[in-house]
Parts: sequence; C-alpha cells; structure tokens
Amino acid sequence: SPSSEVVTRFAPSPTGYLHIGGARTALFNFLFARRYNGKFLVRIEDTDRERSTDAAVKAIFDGMSWLELFADEEPVFQFSRAERHREVANQLLESGHAYRDFLTAEETGVLRDEAKAGNTQFVSPWRDREPGVDDLSKPHTVRFRRPLDTAVVVDDAVQGTVRWDSAALDDLVILRSDGAPTYNLAVVVDDHDMGVTHVIRGDDHLNNAARQALIYDALGWTRPTFAHIPLIHGPDGAKLSKRHGAQAVHEYAEMGYLPEAMRNYLTRLGWAHGDDELFSDEQARQWFDLDGVGKAPARLDFDKLAHVNSHW
Ligand code: GLU
Repeated sequence: SPSSEVVTRFAPSPTGYLHIGGARTALFNFLFARRYNGKFLVRIEDTDRERSTDAAVKAIFDGMSWLELFADEEPVFQFSRAERHREVANQLLESGHAYRDFLTAEETGVLRDEAKAGNTQFVSPWRDREPGVDDLSKPHTVRFRRPLDTAVVVDDAVQGTVRWDSAALDDLVILRSDGAPTYNLAVVVDDHDMGVTHVIRGDDHLNNAARQALIYDALGWTRPTFAHIPLIHGPDGAKLSKRHGAQAVHEYAEMGYLPEAMRNYLTRLGWAHGDDELFSDEQARQWFDLDGVGKAPARLDFDKLAHVNSHW
C-alpha cells in the first residue's frame, strides 16, 4: 500500500457536460483516495479559453454533486495558474531543459514536411542555437528539450511497464508565442503543486505520461504513480458513442436513476472485486484498488445498468 498520504485528482476540461467516462474517472479517483484515507481534489482545466464555458463548469460540478463525489478541497482553476506555469518554463530554460524556438509557424510547417519526407523526426534548428540579443524580442515559442538516445519508461499501475523511445517524441512546445502554457506543462506543474501522488485517468492520455514523466525528471520532481484506465466501450465493443444510449450523467438523473445505483455500476465498469456485483458504498471504499482495474476496455451495458438501478 502507498507509503505517503494519497492525493488523487479529477481534472476535467470544461468543454461539455459530465459524461459517463468522466464520471467513472472521477469515481475511481474518489474511491482510491477514500480507500487510503487520502485526499480527492478537483482541477478544472480551463486553459482552452475558446472551448471552456461556465455552463460546462457548472454541469460538471452538478454531475459530481449528484453522484456525491465531493472534493476534499476547493477546486483549482488551471487558467488562474498561468503565471506559475510560465515561472516553471523559465526554470526549465535556465537549467537548459528548454529552449526558445524562433521559427515561424510557416517555417516549422516546411521543416516538418521535410522531416516527414525524409522519414526523420522534426527538430527545430534552435534546439542547438544560442539566440542573439536582438532575437529575444521576436515572437517565439518555448520548447522542452527532450533527452535523446534514451528510453522513457513509465511503470503504470494498470498498463504495466510502458516504454517509449524518447527520440521518437517531439520537443514539446511548453509556452506558445503568446506566452500561454500548453497542456502537458500545466498538468505537471499543477499536479506537483497540488501534491498529487496518483494520476488516474483514461488511457487516451498514456502517451502524455511519457512527455510528463520527462518534464518531472528535468525538474527533479518525483513523478506521481500513473494509472491509465481503458476507455469505456459500448455493448458491441465499439468505442462508446451516443448511438449506444445516454452519455451524460444528468440524463440519468432526469430518467430517475439513483446515484447509488450509478456509482455501483460505474465502479464495476473496469474494476472487479471477485464476483461481487452489488455492494455498498462502504464496501467500495474499502475494497477499491488499482490492481483490480482491468487492462481490457469495459463494456457499458445499458440493460445491466437499468437492472442494477432496479435493485436499489
Ligand atoms: N483535462 C484532461 C481531459 O479532460 C485530463 C487531464 C488529466 O487527467 O491529466 O481529458
């Protein structure tokens, strides 16, 4: 069992309602924190100013409240931390783990196409070039200088040991030319500052874990334990979509489903405790652990969900 206090977080982007997949991610983080008497935190990742809306923030909180997934602290809004993200980007520049890239978008496009045609990886010439004094006032991005010739290895609590060839990744843009921090930098800084020990999220973020792990290492920060859970599929095994049935948590509330039944069903979606099908909230909090999370995508069965609901 974990050696220090467990801190988990649910970090939704407020671009739509809380859907079944997000609710399950929140629930797993909540249960894991409860299991180890830790803390469950919420961070609203509202850095995409065009797509983030207040209505979505409200919908997410409403969905979580209905499911009684309450955070142990006030939510953190990522956009409000941009200054801190820039500060850490500067730290990376100073330690040589990042560099300023003065290529225009157009130049980058051309070099990218050339690299692709030559079957190599795009690298900005600024990776190995010292900017002159008059360069600094020109618009530029800041890129993370990934180590070459090494493997990035992540011991994922669900996926096992996953390796990437770091040369095959990109020198990630961490600050855009307007100074806006990008997703991977913001997530690392926030998770670190919030003391997050376990990052439990959908496996669509697995490749980001490689990038994030490199940033942690460059900063000399301890990486959290990553746990990437397979996305939910429909009863036919295809990626979950509207045609399978209701996707939004609020639709279930409106249909008269009980939050207890939803929680129970969602807990079982990708996690198993022997053959137990129905259990109390209390049992879920005592039993939930990451080693019970399967590697294969769980299938959401709407009939079964209705059946579970009828038991309550
Ligand atoms: N904001 C991201 C999303 O909603 C999640 C980031 C994370 O959990 O690290 O997909």
